[in-house]
Amino acid sequence: MSEAQAIELRRPAANFREEAFSSAEELAQGEREALMDRIKSLLKEQNAVLVAHYYTAADLQILADETGGYVSDSLDMARFGKEHPAQTLVVAGVRFMGETAKILTPEKRVLMPELEATCSLDIGCPADEFSAFCDQYPDHTVVVYANTSAAVKARADWVVTSSIAVDVVKHLHERGEKILWGPDKHLGDYIRRETGAEMVLWDGSCIVHEEFKGLELEKLRAEHPDALILVHPESPRAVVEQADVVGSTSKLLQAVQTMDAPAFIVATDNGIFHKMRQAAPDKHLLEAPTAGRSATCSSCAHCPWMAMNGLRNLAHVLETGSNEIFVDPAIAEQALVSLNRMLDFSAARNSVVLGRGDA
Ligand code: SF4
Repeated sequence: MSEAQAIELRRPAANFREEAFSSAEELAQGEREALMDRIKSLLKEQNAVLVAHYYTAADLQILADETGGYVSDSLDMARFGKEHPAQTLVVAGVRFMGETAKILTPEKRVLMPELEATCSLDIGCPADEFSAFCDQYPDHTVVVYANTSAAVKARADWVVTSSIAVDVVKHLHERGEKILWGPDKHLGDYIRRETGAEMVLWDGSCIVHEEFKGLELEKLRAEHPDALILVHPESPRAVVEQADVVGSTSKLLQAVQTMDAPAFIVATDNGIFHKMRQAAPDKHLLEAPTAGRSATCSSCAHCPWMAMNGLRNLAHVLETGSNEIFVDPAIAEQALVSLNRMLDFSAARNSVVLGRGDA
């Protein structure tokens, strides 16, 4: 690695593992069905649409699908919420997703089942510290992952999701720009290797993906030689390097549907298995190993904050109108600039692909 490409590492102060906890709800069958029916009626009564992330509980994904809502990764959730005519968006996911929805559609009411549902990447990247870090590199273009607060997005030149990060950085690199990336160091490291861009990285990580272990994955591969390895790039390099496919949740889901293999080992949050089983019921799906599957909740492959979304708190916010998301208008206005760069880039890229096809 050249000196210019040296990775700048910074330690966030928060101890995520101690803060993380799981509150996945357990419901009797009768209560589950009653809540599902109640939520369906409330969504209709209130002209509301449910948008859920792939990592949320299967019941929420089922509800979104059955009520004309949407289940996807964060880029597509943002697009869908922006384009849907409903006056209320109910975002089942983590805090930054609700904030992003509000920034993109300030005229709509945005509700979330649980306001405490956050993300280790967001917690580990306080806006004031990140801004001071950016000030040290005034000649760098600031590109941040979507898993950040509105204030961090407002400090950035670009916001990207994992589905478009490599393409955006490649584009900037081809224009001769140097990149300051935050907050996920593993994703940043992957993008740097893919694009060859000169990048300095903030030292953040996802507590779920960081638990995947290269050595244990090697052993599991040896036990399942027919399986392909699917890896989200928030995982450590030792895991990414063993992947047959590296990409966003949507890309990994597509791989299960389209690739000709009987089995897949999946290194991302296990909430994705609901959609993968739906899409490819005949495929054998295995979770990539984490450090201690029988140890603490923070070493299993499920996000403790995504697990805070449930049927009870979803019904509650629809009944009470509580947990509405507000973003400071000045911050939102600035964050919208960097978010729109991503959405415009994505739209232009799709139209170029279609244009080629037509020609
Ligand atoms: S899975 Fe990781 S990146 Fe996604 S919300 Fe949870 S902590 Fe954040």
